[in-house]
Amino acid sequence: MNAAGAESSGDRAPNTVDVVVVGGGNAGFCAAHAAHESGATVLLLEKATADEAGGNSFYTAGAFRLVHNGPDDALRGLIDDDITQDRWDRTDLAPYTRAEFTSDMRRLTDGRCDPAMTDILVEDSADLASWLAGRGIRWRLMYERQSYVNDERWVFSGGLAIGTVDGGKGLIAQHTAAAARTGIAIRYGAGVTGLELGETPTVRWRESDGEERSVRARSVVLAAGGFEADPARRAAHLGPGWERALVRGNPLNTGEVLDMALDAGAARHGDWSSCHSVAWDSGAPPQGGDRQLTNQLTRQSYPIGIVVNNLGERFVDEGADFRNYTYAKYGREILTQPDGRAFQLFDAKTRPLLRTEEYDSKPITSAEADDLATLADKLGIDADGLATTVREFNASIVDVPFDPAVKDGRAARVRPPKSHWAQALDAPPFYGFAVSCGVTFTFGGLHVDERAQVLDESGQPLSGLYAAGELVGGLFSGNYPGGSGLTAGAVFGRRAGRAAAEDRAR
Ligand SMILES: Cc1cc2nc3c(=O)[nH]c(=O)nc-3n(C[C@H](O)[C@H](O)[C@H](O)COP(=O)(O)OP(=O)(O)OC[C@H]3O[C@@H](n4cnc5c(N)ncnc54)[C@H](O)[C@@H]3O)c2cc1C
Repeated sequence: MNAAGAESSGDRAPNTVDVVVVGGGNAGFCAAHAAHESGATVLLLEKATADEAGGNSFYTAGAFRLVHNGPDDALRGLIDDDITQDRWDRTDLAPYTRAEFTSDMRRLTDGRCDPAMTDILVEDSADLASWLAGRGIRWRLMYERQSYVNDERWVFSGGLAIGTVDGGKGLIAQHTAAAARTGIAIRYGAGVTGLELGETPTVRWRESDGEERSVRARSVVLAAGGFEADPARRAAHLGPGWERALVRGNPLNTGEVLDMALDAGAARHGDWSSCHSVAWDSGAPPQGGDRQLTNQLTRQSYPIGIVVNNLGERFVDEGADFRNYTYAKYGREILTQPDGRAFQLFDAKTRPLLRTEEYDSKPITSAEADDLATLADKLGIDADGLATTVREFNASIVDVPFDPAVKDGRAARVRPPKSHWAQALDAPPFYGFAVSCGVTFTFGGLHVDERAQVLDESGQPLSGLYAAGELVGGLFSGNYPGGSGLTAGAVFGRRAGRAAAEDRAR
């Protein structure tokens, strides 16, 4: 694992290197690739063992939100998947423009996204897929997650269509293979414990066997994720109750590297009191995701059903917008319900429309019954409360055609309203899926400039220190457009790696 040109201590860990990257998720790998191709020697330190590596990025669906021009030749050239010409010809994928991406960011964060960072995210997303393809990342269109079949055409909606082959598992395997090909050194089981800045920054880490090691570098890129997997830090920053959320992804994203950067003088940025959280199978492990099922434990077809708490009461507008624009804020709504649980309900009409990889996943916390009272009993929902809710809901639906591919205006005029895709729950058998709040990642982080260099409280860059990914704050607040996390990590990771490599000349 020697980094080309790095001085080695003899047991294959270099003493000095141009660029140290802390964290081997998507952001860290993008930084490592960019630094390496800019001529730097690179050492990537990852806390997990090789078998458990890849961070939250491993658990993803691999969905990237990217500016694109629709199904033109450029996109076709990128897609590395078996799509027949017939399917391609019957794919309705509108271009996703810079203006739309910017507007989605502003709308979903209620204007709290950092404008300069948002411009970078949007602008750099346009050539990201081809840059990553050049590093071995393989792309596909996510028909099964992001489109509905309508009149024999696949219709995409919600600004998100492009993902990696084999999802997050594929993304990390492809990044890792690219690093091996180019000679980027990776040290697994290396949890970073210390950071000293100065002319030549020093990074300390603890090996799996407990031994302390260190390396000196020209510059350091921090890409060690947020603090979502630490219950105490969650409760401290997000508020009481968040210690009970289920961790969807990497159990090792515990925030200590963020704290090291703050101790070294870095400034906080963004919204430290909110996070990305979703409807997640209530039987899922609490302290971290399942490496086999990864994202299959998510339950994201709620826009075509109804969601109730254990009193049988609805509490959100399930059809307020396309799923990609509501799912990341509905986890916290579930957290505040009695017992922190909720139930997504469907019937024989809507069950065939659910995402198969999520709702046919095994094991799954669900029930099926021929009547609603029995379903309520099986799931632990108050049967009378549910009967009242469903009666009022069914009676309030505006009678216009149902179409899950567009905002169909088929509303239920009850409290809370359902703005689109309202279908009477009246066709047995009935299906219920128990969900809890699954925390994905935290929104607050470090302050970086346009080179992804970390800033101090006075807005001055900290010499030799860069950051990317979840650990950077400023982009998201309260809500989030689906697929933006991987894009943000890659965009700022690429900038961080390039800028860190330039520091060789300091
Ligand atoms: C189930 C799930 C599904 C998701 N689906 C999507 C999706 O489809 N599209 C999307 O855009 N986003 C998705 N996300 C969000 C996405 O995972 C993140 O936005 C993104 O992966 C963050 O990348 P990162 O490199 O910043 O962090 P990570 O991928 O988490 O990498 C951080 C790395 O740092 C390591 N680390 C932590 N502490 C230390 C330390 N002290 N020393 C050394 N290393 C350390 C960690 O072990 C980890 O490997 C999903 C998340 C989850 C959990």
